[in-house]
Amino acid sequence: MELSSRIDPALSVICESAREVDSTARYPSESVDALRASGLLGLTLPEEVGGLGGGPQELVQVVSALASACGSTAMIYLMHVSAAMTVAAGPPGDLPDLLPSLADGRALGTLAFSETGSRSHFWAPVSRAQRNGEGLQVDARKSWVTSAGHADIYVTTTGNADTEGSVDVFAFPAGTPGLAVTGQFRGLGLRGNASSPMTFEVPNASTYLVGEPGGGFDILLGTVMPWFNLGNAAVSVGLSQAVTDAAVRHTSAAKLEHLDQSLSALPTIRAQLAKMSIDLATTRAYLDQAAGRIAEPAEDTVLHVLGVKAAANDAALRITDTAMRVCGGAAFSEHLQVDRYFRDARAGHVMAPTADVLYDFYGKAITGQELF
Ligand SMILES: Cc1cc2nc3c(=O)[nH]c(=O)nc-3n(C[C@H](O)[C@H](O)[C@H](O)COP(=O)(O)OP(=O)(O)OC[C@H]3O[C@@H](n4cnc5c(N)ncnc54)[C@H](O)[C@@H]3O)c2cc1C
Repeated sequence: MELSSRIDPALSVICESAREVDSTARYPSESVDALRASGLLGLTLPEEVGGLGGGPQELVQVVSALASACGSTAMIYLMHVSAAMTVAAGPPGDLPDLLPSLADGRALGTLAFSETGSRSHFWAPVSRAQRNGEGLQVDARKSWVTSAGHADIYVTTTGNADTEGSVDVFAFPAGTPGLAVTGQFRGLGLRGNASSPMTFEVPNASTYLVGEPGGGFDILLGTVMPWFNLGNAAVSVGLSQAVTDAAVRHTSAAKLEHLDQSLSALPTIRAQLAKMSIDLATTRAYLDQAAGRIAEPAEDTVLHVLGVKAAANDAALRITDTAMRVCGGAAFSEHLQVDRYFRDARAGHVMAPTADVLYDFYGKAITGQELF
């Protein structure tokens, strides 16, 4: 699928504001508008609902390119794709325009899963729906919601009213009475994300149910994890690529005049640059392999879904850390933007499922233990 004619015009808008979005911690509305206009909000949705019918490889291509330009915009985009694929797994029958609007750019989606009670264990909401006559009442407090107050569709979770331990998924349009943003987001990185807490107090929620009642856990594992983990790994790789390029550029240009040589002429610096570049290349290869395994499921697809995010998140920490080191005080100042990539890379690692949780799951999987 040829995507550069869609990505490039959006990128020129995104690149222009990335530095200012980070420094002022403002939501990149014009970047989101450029993505709406590009058709890329429908990247992975089927053509029958107005999407482009792209798959995991296309997601990796788009997300990594966005992340190299602006981590905040890339994560906003990934949250949209994850929300759209969740809705596609079980679109609410009474909302026939929901998927087409997520596909054609009218609606930006996001995920509102994390709760203060269960923290990063997003598969276990402690909030619980209540029976309300024939219907369902949702009362959930969510601790982090990317695009809070900016998204058009909020995909959220709550415990099932009838069966303890089962999960329901809902997709609430922004105007639904009972939705509120309850705090501010001030983050170390991804500072333009507006990842604020929200409450969802919806008395008649049945209309918005995604999939079957109590069927949320399977959607979280079977749909959200593959798309989100792969896309989150692609954010890490995009940030790693950008910071490696910045470090090579700076160390090649910065001169030690008294020695008549560049920083990159120092063997120690060259070796660190090589390590970054090799780390990036091996992580990218794993990312591409994982995308292939998700596109065409195989016996080891689950391992790739678990492993790729953990590996790419950790690689991004190493690579951005090394970039800070080789660029010296110049990276400590804002002008190189190496600090932005360094700070942005820290988010993916702690976003659920966190890298450490994924290592634990992966370890369970290869030793034949149940994940949950
Ligand atoms: C920028 C940003 C945007 C976000 N956007 C969203 C969003 O749009 N929607 C959403 O639902 N959430 C979002 N989140 C929340 C995110 O997904 C996590 O839920 C949140 O970062 C967890 O933080 P915590 O302090 O609750 O972590 P905790 O759960 O308290 O974890 C603390 C530490 O314990 C480790 N840990 C926890 N359990 C285990 C385990 N079983 N094994 C090993 N280690 C473990 C973790 O890895 C972590 O290192 C966002 C977070 C960030 C930073």
